[in-house]
Amino acid sequence: MSHLMNTYGRQAVAFEKGEGAWLWDTQGKRYLDALAGIAVNGLGHAHPRLVRAIADQAGKVIHTSNIYQVPLQEALATRLAAISGMDKSFFCNSGAEANEAAIKLARLYGTQKGIEEPTIIVMEKAWHGRTIATLAATGSAKASAGFGKPISGFLRVPYNNLEAIKSMVDQHPEIVAVLFEPIQGEGGIRLADVEYQQALHAFCRERGLLYMVDEVQCGIGRTGKWFGFQHTGLLPDVMTLAKGLGSGVPIGACVAAGAAAEIFQPGSHGTTFGGGPLVCAAALETLAVMEDEHLLHRASSLGDTIKSGLETALSGHPGVKEIRGHGLMMGVELDRPCAALVAQALEQGLLINVTQDTVVRLLPPLILKDEEAEQILHILVPLIKAFLTT
Ligand SMILES: *Cc1c(COP(=O)(O)O)cnc(C)c1O
Repeated sequence: MSHLMNTYGRQAVAFEKGEGAWLWDTQGKRYLDALAGIAVNGLGHAHPRLVRAIADQAGKVIHTSNIYQVPLQEALATRLAAISGMDKSFFCNSGAEANEAAIKLARLYGTQKGIEEPTIIVMEKAWHGRTIATLAATGSAKASAGFGKPISGFLRVPYNNLEAIKSMVDQHPEIVAVLFEPIQGEGGIRLADVEYQQALHAFCRERGLLYMVDEVQCGIGRTGKWFGFQHTGLLPDVMTLAKGLGSGVPIGACVAAGAAAEIFQPGSHGTTFGGGPLVCAAALETLAVMEDEHLLHRASSLGDTIKSGLETALSGHPGVKEIRGHGLMMGVELDRPCAALVAQALEQGLLINVTQDTVVRLLPPLILKDEEAEQILHILVPLIKAFLTT
């Protein structure tokens, strides 16, 4: 009997080592990792520079406290400001916590404007985490079932629909912010239209609403730019990060620009572990390796290769509804539930994922080689075709 709480339906495999885009299980079988721990291991597995940075830092100091100066945290905030054009960061330990910080920041912003019950607009099929607040922001009936009445302070609209936001804001003067994913990950790899984002950004400016992007999954190079919002050139007020930021060590960030960056003051928010020296060293090295190995460019060209390979092989194929994605964040939507494909791919030595029941999701590491991109196609395409004919 397992003594683990039964929170996951796990695949019957355990990995004991990795290298680059490959993992080996306890039987010595090798797998090509097209999921990267759900968009976490952008540098793949056991990247020598990351391993060294973590080991070196562990040998110096792992944790001190946020009641002292933490120079590596300062350095990481400076680096994030430089690559995002935003101003200030708060560091925490996960995506949900990064969004908790963003939610609290937006509520404080509203309260300071005299709004008693500050409310945030969120999207259908959004994913923002599983804490009580982020669960209320997340648009999943399945994830919230049984956990009581969701906390108030959120109003939900359809994704990619500006009119819905405008009429919501007209009816609810308590709205202070809009929070959305530039590409919905758990929601099925759905992309926000550029024109929609531009119009939404302008609308938020006009009405004094915070424009907040959850880039926990699409940020940190995955789409071919550091951040998803950079494809639109619109600077958000708040951005949240986590998954890819630390290459597997737990770190999240709430990044803010302009006036939004000045809202938190000493005592407003905090964390014991957040932004400790070990995780900041890992995140700084992650960003340095991404730059030195030109991984943004790689994410975009590998993404093009894989997406066009999928399109050539599967577009118009009966049962394939749509192939979507940006850079190394891709989805193939089928016309039927396809969770069974995960175990079939595993059997063939390929790690993938299915989200929203019908969307095959690929989030490979950014260090993927060209021949490995071809290998993903080589295994996945016949599997999908066979699946659709049975
Ligand atoms: C994974 C995810 C989260 C939650 O992150 P955790 O680290 O699991 O708390 C939040 N937002 C998005 C967009 C995500 O993909």
